[in-house]
Amino acid sequence: MRVAMIGSGYVGLVSGACFADFGHTVVCIDKDPSKIERLNRGEIPIFEPGLDDLVETNVRDGRLSFSQDGAEAIRTADAVFIAVGTPSRRGDGHADLSYVHAAAEEIAGLIQGFTVVVTKSTVPVGTGDEVEAIIRRVNPDADFAVVSNPEFLREGAAIGDFKRPDRVVIGVNEDAAAERARTVMSELYRPLNLNESPLLFVNRRTSELIKYAANAFLAMKITFINEMADLCEAVGADVQQVARGIGLDKRIGAKFLHAGPGYGGSCFPKDTIALVRTAQQYGAPTRLIEATVAVNDARKQAMAGRVEKTLGASVQGKTVALLGLTFKPNTDDMRDAPSLDIAPALIAAGARVQAFDPEGMHEAAKLLDGVEMKDSAYDAVQGADAVVIVTEWDQFRALDLDRVKLLMNQPVLVDLRNIYRPEDMQRRGFRYSGIGRG
Ligand code: NAD
Repeated sequence: MRVAMIGSGYVGLVSGACFADFGHTVVCIDKDPSKIERLNRGEIPIFEPGLDDLVETNVRDGRLSFSQDGAEAIRTADAVFIAVGTPSRRGDGHADLSYVHAAAEEIAGLIQGFTVVVTKSTVPVGTGDEVEAIIRRVNPDADFAVVSNPEFLREGAAIGDFKRPDRVVIGVNEDAAAERARTVMSELYRPLNLNESPLLFVNRRTSELIKYAANAFLAMKITFINEMADLCEAVGADVQQVARGIGLDKRIGAKFLHAGPGYGGSCFPKDTIALVRTAQQYGAPTRLIEATVAVNDARKQAMAGRVEKTLGASVQGKTVALLGLTFKPNTDDMRDAPSLDIAPALIAAGARVQAFDPEGMHEAAKLLDGVEMKDSAYDAVQGADAVVIVTEWDQFRALDLDRVKLLMNQPVLVDLRNIYRPEDMQRRGFRYSGIGRG
């Protein structure tokens, strides 16, 4: 199959490289010239484990290439994927579909022969209808089908998620092109069908909603355990044991029950708000998700207060070290990361903030005014009155704590990811606080 991938960000680049690895011929397109120049030089513009090798192999074997102008690739493609961003629209929280609409316009004028246009971006219910209408308006004679195929990969584990998915959701409307569209989609994902097929065919609106429902449910699960953590602190219980105790129940499941500073990242914050807006628009409000959004926003803003509570004093004039800035480990993605709330709140309260992140500092430096970026975790903790573990990168789990203690002005550690044990830390002479542990 010949694939054109419009948008070569976290989703487009990973999906494109994986489809190439499945044996298809893929052109990843991006309108950002610097991204394409870097890719053509053999550089990977994002940090995603394993992506450099996957890209290198498939480029070398002639199945994967990159282009700023996708005209030729779109003309000859069996499937054109739209994998552009759908950020929150300023002001109202609806998904901003301007990039999706622009991509549809570009595609419309170019496709030749039967082409499946696939929205991989996360888009609100009804967007497939809009994409179809745009193509039909621009090119009334085009022979095409618009299919929804939302992506569920997680940054940091994206390649494994794409190649071994729990399911692949494919939304196809029952029209004249449906059978041909299903055939193309099945062929694209054929390598996944060796054992039990993970392909789930539904109609297009259902597929679009599945993506939001999945993200909203996961965001709600995190928010639930975060509230339980606060209750644990109030009543003297341990949230990790509560999470284990409920997670062993198969109806609940152990994943996404880690209490922390509130969810962030490139998907949950914008997708929960977009779902709330869609639901309100259709007169079927999702009050659980509305509460999830509000509780999570308040939580991220409250985290700086935990530092003061652990210090037992104001942070005014104190030095606070942040370890980890990205929204989770193994990515350089800073979108809606909790650090973007925590650092400014500490600075506003008069603290001097210094930080280290293994992969995110380049991006973080653009977003975090007044934070001093350091070259290592040990440089960051030097002279600090409090250290805050914001992101649970592996290297922070294995810190030489005696060295940390010696470097710090006073040994105070606020562990927003519960990667250390309170007893150990107390034994080592730290004033320590985690999340939800008595
Ligand atoms: P991203 O910002 O990393 O990448 C989007 C890319 O699209 C950018 O490089 C941009 O330059 C390019 N682009 C925009 N308009 C274009 C056009 N007309 N032609 C060519 N290129 C264009 O975004 P992302 O994280 O890859 O997310 C893409 C979509 O996938 C979003 O809808 C997101 O919600 C969804 N999604 C993301 C993840 C994730 O973990 N990042 C997971 C699942 C789904």
